[in-house]
Amino acid sequence: MHILVAGFQHETNTFAPSKAGYENFVRGEGFPAMVRGKDMLALREVNIPAGGFINAVMEQGHTVDTVIWAGASPSAHVTRDAYERIAGEILDAARAGGYDAIYLDLHRAMVTEHLDDGEGELLARVRQIAGPDVPVVASLDLHANVTGQMLREADGLVAFRTYPHVDMADTGVQAARLLLARIQAGGQWVRRERRLPFLIPINGMCTMLQPSHGVYDMLARLEQTPGVASISFAPGFPAADFPECGPVVWAYGTDAAAVERVTESLHTRVLELEPEWSPDFLEPAEAVRRAQALATGASRPVVIADTQDNPGAGGDANTTGMLRALVAADAQNAALGLFYDPEAVRQATAAGVGATVRLSLGGQSGVAGDAAFDGEFIVETLSPGKLRFDGPMMHGMDVDLGAVAGLRIGGVRIVVSASKAQMLDRNLFRVGGVQPEEMSILVVKSSVHFRADFQPIAHEVLVAKAPGPMQADPADLPWTRLQPGIRMRPLGRAFAAR
Ligand SMILES: [Zn+2]
Repeated sequence: MHILVAGFQHETNTFAPSKAGYENFVRGEGFPAMVRGKDMLALREVNIPAGGFINAVMEQGHTVDTVIWAGASPSAHVTRDAYERIAGEILDAARAGGYDAIYLDLHRAMVTEHLDDGEGELLARVRQIAGPDVPVVASLDLHANVTGQMLREADGLVAFRTYPHVDMADTGVQAARLLLARIQAGGQWVRRERRLPFLIPINGMCTMLQPSHGVYDMLARLEQTPGVASISFAPGFPAADFPECGPVVWAYGTDAAAVERVTESLHTRVLELEPEWSPDFLEPAEAVRRAQALATGASRPVVIADTQDNPGAGGDANTTGMLRALVAADAQNAALGLFYDPEAVRQATAAGVGATVRLSLGGQSGVAGDAAFDGEFIVETLSPGKLRFDGPMMHGMDVDLGAVAGLRIGGVRIVVSASKAQMLDRNLFRVGGVQPEEMSILVVKSSVHFRADFQPIAHEVLVAKAPGPMQADPADLPWTRLQPGIRMRPLGRAFAAR
């Protein structure tokens, strides 16, 4: 087969402060930079679905026509301009023809200025061009708000099974497997899906912890059922205000009864576990107090997730609640990262290493309860911000942060960056001169992804709720367009249209 391959990823927090324009996709931010044609083959070295898919189908002797891969950091809506330009390139390639199948590397949480379901619309347009007989499969993030349109338009969808997402390339391999199963099944191909009636906080989805760990174990067992080709559970991205936001279970296969049975079983299990899907959140001062107590006598750092400012969920990594709490508690041997503030980096650079500078960090989030942090900082390190990830999630990926300053105030060190990146790799501390293993307390601007690289070195992990744009508890968000009746958190109040 000759397979058309393209990727277009965005996770849209419709409550977040800034939109994603075309330039955000060109840079890629936390993702690889925008890439086209043969250059896309370099993605085979990176832990992303398109890389896994391309490797898998080439090993089987198929060929690929690589069109474009574009992703941007999670944020508010994708602009109409960015969407239409990138989708347009994919559709132009589809129109040119000459392929036997289509694979798309999607996230499925993209809301644009003009569309609730960016990926569903893309699939519908692709389907219209390719016709009903060309198989179209896509891989999805675990944080996918899977829609009816997506399920109808695609022959197969398969989602990640880990959070932190260490199985991104593996999911591309699963998509290749799904494509072949779809082709072999011919007219026998069936699909079932069930939506869950409550939103799940992203911190509750971590597959290193229960109940998520057990649910994905069960999923893998159910997938072994004869007549079942694939089963997915996407717990969703609970910060996209549109009617199909929420968790979904779906499965494919050739035996309708078996596909129905496994879908029902997994749906029932997720539902039974409803009380367990919400983790404990701490107020900033309480998180620091508890971390200080735990750190006494510990040989490893206590890690606090500053989850509500996670740039992987639409935050700008510039809220100051945790920094304020660390300084107020006179925390020692503590470090916080990655704090996004290009102006502070510029001023620190102008002052030079060793200088003491008066800075006003953050203050731009617009979130109630967040404000700039003014103080005198020692500039400890300056770096051009170029690094390579060594952690399990994005191993081998090169990152260019533009510039990085390592600052200190009292016993607290802050790694400040000229561009945004989620703290999912320990090297993001090292680039600011902080050796994370040697610290007593680490505050990370991340919700869950940090666990892949930080849990192995952590004495304990705490989750704090400092004011930020990504509400850890979805029930705290000012929803207006959810499906009436869906519970806004596990066991929470049902949404009612105003
Ligand atoms: Zn995700």
